[in-house]
Amino acid sequence: MTLPTSIAHPLSDAAAACAAPVRPTRSAIQGVAVTDVQLDADGFWGRRQAINSAATLEHCLQWMERLGWLENFDRVARGEAAPSRPGWQFSDSEVYKLLEAMAWDLARTPDAGLETTFDALVDRIGAAQDDDGYLNTAFGHPGRPPRWSDLAMGHELYNAGHLIQAGVARFRTGHDDRLVEIARRAADQICEEFGEGGLDAVCGHPEIEVALVESGRALGERRYLEQARLFIDRRGRGTLPVRPLLSAEYFQDDVPVREATVLRGHAVRALYLTAGALDVAVETDDDELFDAVTRQWEHTVARRTYLTGGMGSRHQDEGFGDDWELPADRAYCETCAGVGSIMLAWRLYLATGEVRYADLIERTLFNVVATSPSADGTAFFYANPLQQREPGAPAGDGVNKRAEGGIRAPWFDVSCCPTNVARTLASLGSYVASVDTEGLALLQYAAGEVRAGGFVLRIDTAYPAEGIVRVHVVEAPDGVRRLRLRIPSWAPDASLRVGDGDPMRVEPGWADVTRRFAAGDRVVLELPTSPRFTWPDPRIDGVRDTVAVERGPLVLCLESTDLPDGISLDDVRAVTSSAPVAHGDGARLTASVDARESIDGALPYGSRRPSAARTAPLDLALVPYHRWAERGPATMRVFLPVGE
Ligand SMILES: [Zn+2]
Repeated sequence: MTLPTSIAHPLSDAAAACAAPVRPTRSAIQGVAVTDVQLDADGFWGRRQAINSAATLEHCLQWMERLGWLENFDRVARGEAAPSRPGWQFSDSEVYKLLEAMAWDLARTPDAGLETTFDALVDRIGAAQDDDGYLNTAFGHPGRPPRWSDLAMGHELYNAGHLIQAGVARFRTGHDDRLVEIARRAADQICEEFGEGGLDAVCGHPEIEVALVESGRALGERRYLEQARLFIDRRGRGTLPVRPLLSAEYFQDDVPVREATVLRGHAVRALYLTAGALDVAVETDDDELFDAVTRQWEHTVARRTYLTGGMGSRHQDEGFGDDWELPADRAYCETCAGVGSIMLAWRLYLATGEVRYADLIERTLFNVVATSPSADGTAFFYANPLQQREPGAPAGDGVNKRAEGGIRAPWFDVSCCPTNVARTLASLGSYVASVDTEGLALLQYAAGEVRAGGFVLRIDTAYPAEGIVRVHVVEAPDGVRRLRLRIPSWAPDASLRVGDGDPMRVEPGWADVTRRFAAGDRVVLELPTSPRFTWPDPRIDGVRDTVAVERGPLVLCLESTDLPDGISLDDVRAVTSSAPVAHGDGARLTASVDARESIDGALPYGSRRPSAARTAPLDLALVPYHRWAERGPATMRVFLPVGE
């Protein structure tokens, strides 16, 4: 496959004017700006975005202050020796991710109070920057290890990457101010240190690659792109020291990116790296690298991805498992891996315009990103398993070690996920629609207004609870234009009605309306949202002979909260001879209950197959997976064993 080049703009200028997280200089498509999309505060995504603004940003800030992660910057600024320092070596990155989230938010909904908070944070960070641009509170200062002395686990370049991405967000939202300057100096220093002839090394946690490419795009600095290319090309040569229990594969340092066939090792690392590799491929016209990324994505999605879009099935190294190694109960599915998957799929979409990437983004948004935060935006899932065997213990107000307990926690020892959710929700508008030379495409359906490509569109929908999406043209561009709507792969019986015309059946993929549009035009999309059974590939041993229920883009689950007294979730069987029916935003399902004979020997294994007695069918309520555990600790299953 060769890279499409239908839209090109020089580095900087137009790119700088667009407040979007990803802005390739050459691509088939461009995402819209976060400021082009105003989501309704009572819609599914608008509500989450509003809660993110109103509660999550402040919540994250308070926790970082409380734990001393901000004080770390002050201590460096004062030149104090810090033999012990609160927070992991990557805690600086949480501050930067929060700044990125604030920058997107400020562009969408200006707020003098938040602006003041933002400026004060930037001042504290800037005061800790060394004269040569180096900025890190865990290395390179009195009482701390020297710079670049632990490239495998030190996260120095990872931290810098998030700083640079925050700078990009600030610049793209119309400010060339102190944060942009801090980020620029940090990037310059990295290029000095790691450029041709410098340190021939990579960071143990990718992130600097996407950051340098985006910064290069935004600021028109080709050497940032070149530095990112160097980091991509240097990876896979085994230069990172292998640690006990952590192989070269964990760091994606086992095989060069362009030779790899599948994502492997630590899931977030793999996804960030591959997103950066795709960026480099697009900017340097590197078809071989582009094809390598596409190949890895296809294999990973086909064999190493959960129904929710979650990625990563091993807890020990937060990593991908082998093909088909997708156990429901031990699913790791880190929230950050969901964010990383969206980052990668979004870049692939922009480069190709292929609908499959937007489909995966939808699946991951609704079932991973929406699942992590609590309804009030102040507690989060870190891991997102598809089965919970024991109800989680209430999280309390302390720092959670890593939230495997089936309950959302306010903060974590390693707290990467809350700020990743925050920056994703703050910039969500950019993923809703895209523009190209033909017109505008609606990718994710959310109530609100979209202004792009000469269109002003009003979107009315209760999606995903309902499948009807009404698109009203408020303003139309001149000439014949194409309005393109994504028909999700799960919607084989969708229909589209243009104006007063008859509904037309549309197939999964794209539905195009090409005409001279005028204010007052209407297009109504109807997506079938009847609940449906979804069967796993039998090669996934962990869920063989089970079935899940989905409704529209939502994966549903059964929680113990919805079971009659005296019935264990483990004994419930789905009866698949009758289809599940819609119920609220979930479904009702006919189920049977197996009163199974247990094996009570020394070992839980016996010499004959246990018998089972089935009860009369039950009618059970399933709820969207993203809402699970909102009513308190519960056991939960997405995949149910199939009964008669
Ligand atoms: Zn995380």
